[in-house]
Amino acid sequence: MFSSASDFSRNISSEMQGLHGKSIRNKESLRASNMVGCFHCASMFPSTAVVAWTEEFNPPGETGICPICGVDALIGDAVVPSISIDLLRQMKKLWF
Ligand SMILES: [Zn+2]
Repeated sequence: MFSSASDFSRNISSEMQGLHGKSIRNKESLRASNMVGCFHCASMFPSTAVVAWTEEFNPPGETGICPICGVDALIGDAVVPSISIDLLRQMKKLWF
C-alpha cells in the first residue's frame, strides 16, 4: 500500500514487481475496487466497466481485460489506493 504517488515513486524498483503480479488473477481485487486503472493505455474507469475476463491455469483464476484497449493490464484502488494516470504511465514505461 502507498499513501501517495511520491511514496510510490521512491519504492518504484522494489514494489513494481509485486504490483505487476497483482495484475494477474485479479478478479477479486478488481471487484473490491471502486476505480480501476489500465497501465497499458493509462486510462481509469469504474470497476463496473470491466466485463471481460481471461481464464488462467496453473493455478486457475480470472484476469480482467481493459474495456478500452483489450489488454490484461488492470489494477484497482483496492490494491493501490493512490492510483492515478501518472502512476499508470510510470508502470507502462516499465512493462510496455
Ligand atoms: Zn487499457
